[in-house]
Amino acid sequence: MGRIVCLECENGDYRKTLRIGTGQKESEKDNIINFFATAHHPAIHLAYEKDSGYSFSHYPAFCRACSDYITAPVFETMVGSYSDRFIGKTDCGDKPDDIQLIYNIDTEELLCPICKGRLTPKTQGYWE
Ligand SMILES: [Zn+2]
Ligand SMILES: [Zn+2]
Repeated sequence: MGRIVCLECENGDYRKTLRIGTGQKESEKDNIINFFATAHHPAIHLAYEKDSGYSFSHYPAFCRACSDYITAPVFETMVGSYSDRFIGKTDCGDKPDDIQLIYNIDTEELLCPICKGRLTPKTQGYWE
């Protein structure tokens, strides 16, 4: 189940709703593979085939190209002590190189892209 989080600036000039986490349908490989560039498909197929440990989630992120908070699909594989992470197509359309993933939206300090004030994350609900 995914979570709907609203980021609100303490100064009231910015508000953004993000759908983060994983939906129910996204446990299926076919439903997530197209979020990722073709170059990453073999590694994703392999992770499912070998069932070697993987996770998929929509991460919140800050995009430097559009100076905004966005979400990006992220696939992580874990094989023994080796892990790899692929960032898929961002919801703003900018390149994954331009974004910085937010690993914990509840504890990281997030600043307003407009006034640099503090943003507070509020859970608005959940999505399937
Ligand atoms: Zn962007
Ligand atoms: Zn602000």
